[in-house]
Amino acid sequence: MSSLRISPQRLLNDLAELATFGGRDDGGVDRIAGSPADLASRTWLANRITAAGLESWTDPIGNVFGKQRGSRGPWLLTGSHTDTVPAAGRLDGAYGALAAIEVLRTLHEAGHPSAAALQTVAFWDEEGVLPTSNGGLVGSTALSVSEHIKEISGYVELHIEQGPRMEDAGLELAVVDGIVGVDRYLLVIRGEANHAGTTPMINRHDAGRAASKIAAHLWETADEVDETMVVNVGAMEFHPGVPNVVPGEAHLTVEFRAASEFALLAAGDRTLALTRRIGREQKCSVEVSRLSHKPVVRFDESYVDLIHQTCTRQGVPTGRLVSFAGHDASVISSKVPTAMLFVPSTGGISHSPAEHTDDAYLVQGAQVLLETLVEIEQTLPKPVYLH
Ligand SMILES: [Zn+2]
Repeated sequence: MSSLRISPQRLLNDLAELATFGGRDDGGVDRIAGSPADLASRTWLANRITAAGLESWTDPIGNVFGKQRGSRGPWLLTGSHTDTVPAAGRLDGAYGALAAIEVLRTLHEAGHPSAAALQTVAFWDEEGVLPTSNGGLVGSTALSVSEHIKEISGYVELHIEQGPRMEDAGLELAVVDGIVGVDRYLLVIRGEANHAGTTPMINRHDAGRAASKIAAHLWETADEVDETMVVNVGAMEFHPGVPNVVPGEAHLTVEFRAASEFALLAAGDRTLALTRRIGREQKCSVEVSRLSHKPVVRFDESYVDLIHQTCTRQGVPTGRLVSFAGHDASVISSKVPTAMLFVPSTGGISHSPAEHTDDAYLVQGAQVLLETLVEIEQTLPKPVYLH
């Protein structure tokens, strides 16, 4: 175990300063990728890296990297993203990106040999707020298909949990073993638009009623398949959508997230069966199409085990979790061994100005990140490159 300590004050000061870029009066942050605040914060980040005597550079997409001058790969990469959703908190992404810099800075100052084997990254456009960013993970996707990925030996991302599971379980740290898969469906129900007063109830082909019944049953559908699965009916539209016409057509978007591909498949099958059954009952035709499929991500077992051991050795209450939110780590994990470390989010709130994690947990997480990276770098074999 390393006796090296990160500087809590320096990390917390950096977090406070980064939050001034796009800072809002309510304590939140607006730092959408490509905005003036985002661009200015990237220059500031690069300056923080060079001020520590390290080398910083930006790749063509806009990812900001840091490393020891003259160090030669392969490098173990650590970091996160610094862009935000609108009206965001100050920790999502920013915490992992700045903790990475604090860890490398600490090792560099101490003349620790592992400093030469580390690289930090602040990814470009993880959140995908703009319609042009195609769902996000833009910077990490660009890195994953760049020449530079061949010089990266692994990736560890520290992040806030963004949910209540850790707090509920009394955990101060969690090793993330994977990221849920996500399936999105569009359900189209076609009935018959008709006069909402004169059409007897028994004669109606009410697409709105069918859609509402389907939506009401989807919670149970998900629960029956897998109790950890989540489902969301994010949008429901009725046509023509006026008070005095029975809806002739209804559209629902449904999203399932689960830790197993089997659960996602089963949920899809059950949704189809449910939609057909209720469609028949309501004398409507139905159409179910899968709009997108993001596969379940499993992180590297040796990384996950080693991080878990490192956390528990410190006597910190540590759990293992699957992440229900997407992260840059999911993209990078398709190329190199990858894992994530979570700290708790107070009240499970994220993507909100009210996002908060106690300073003590932020500091502890960054310290464990340092221990973890040194352990990985010193004890795990470097991968053989087959890119
Ligand atoms: Zn994030």
